[in-house]
Amino acid sequence: MAQVRNKQVVLSNYVSGFPKESDMEIVDSTITLKLPEGSNGVLLKNLYLSCDPYMRTLMNEDSTLGLGRLTLGSPMMGYGVARVVESGNPDYKKGDLVWGITKWEEYSLVSAPQFFKIQHTDVPLSYYTGILGMPGMTAYTGFFEVGSAKKGENVFVSAASGAVGQLVGQFAKLNGCYVVGSAGSKEKVELLKEKFGYDEGFNYKEEPDLDAALKRYFPEGIDIYFENVGGKTLDAVLPNMKLHGRIPVCGMISQYNLTQHEGVANLANLIFKRVRMEGFVVSDFYHLYPKFLEFVLPHIREGKVVYVEDIAEGLENGPAALVGLFSGRNVGKQVLVVARD
Ligand code: NAP
Repeated sequence: MAQVRNKQVVLSNYVSGFPKESDMEIVDSTITLKLPEGSNGVLLKNLYLSCDPYMRTLMNEDSTLGLGRLTLGSPMMGYGVARVVESGNPDYKKGDLVWGITKWEEYSLVSAPQFFKIQHTDVPLSYYTGILGMPGMTAYTGFFEVGSAKKGENVFVSAASGAVGQLVGQFAKLNGCYVVGSAGSKEKVELLKEKFGYDEGFNYKEEPDLDAALKRYFPEGIDIYFENVGGKTLDAVLPNMKLHGRIPVCGMISQYNLTQHEGVANLANLIFKRVRMEGFVVSDFYHLYPKFLEFVLPHIREGKVVYVEDIAEGLENGPAALVGLFSGRNVGKQVLVVARD
């Protein structure tokens, strides 16, 4: 069996502080497109890869957050959409389209496959890295399950135009809520209001006083703060929470690259306002995926929920796409195309 080229994006340096493109390297490897004899695995052709902020933590030398770590010289790992080229596993067959954890390379050999099978192909396949994949499930479970969203509530979302945030805003509107988002540029704030139906939006980089901005948009306070960024934003939100408010803690991207994490001064508001602040990890909710698809697919087909993607073409552009998440370069869900079929 002939070998074929297998271009990869590998980790070349452990990262401390902000990641750089040069912490990753493009390598021309090769692969034999045949499973080892007796393998229970699958051979995948990777199509679309997802750039996600949590991938930064895999680049640490230690793995204190418990998400694991990569070894130097090994391909980057993350969510992706792939086609099964060969299968030794009864749950998958050649030609199946799947999404789940794969590697940043053209072809991947996965010895213990645990993928979601893609059943609906009338929507763009790349959506399974975003709205129909991990970020979509994150927005849905974070808002409805962890946030216990109720009709008509006041909702604030940070990193509001990103892969997760753009959906939280739309789900909040479908739920009859008043929703305000913060984002890092004028263009993104316009997207919030024009495209995702946010009632209001503001550029947090241009607000000298975040507390004053929140008081302006929420004179009666916030019921749900969908936390994506942490740091100063969280501190400003806490005194503006309403009695019995909820803070689903989805992410804290402002802290991921700091060697010294920022403190939070206003935590005592949790007590007097009886606020529930709860961290969550989306994979704990994957049993709800069929229910989520039932909810979201009709909305996509009817155009009632939209999804903005930022598409980077080719593995060569993977490092820049991933690093760009931490300066807000991406507008919408950052996708990396390896191959279109
Ligand atoms: P994203 O919003 O598509 O991309 C990241 C965005 O974060 C950037 O575009 C940038 O937008 C913003 N950002 C970067 N550095 C920042 C900083 N220092 N302060 C404030 N904002 C900053 O990413 P995503 O995939 O939707 O993820 C959003 C959050 O959810 C992340 O914290 C991620 O870790 C978390 N998450 C958690 C789970 C879970 O299971 N708990 C699952 C998925 C994602 P601006 O231009 O607006 O600043």
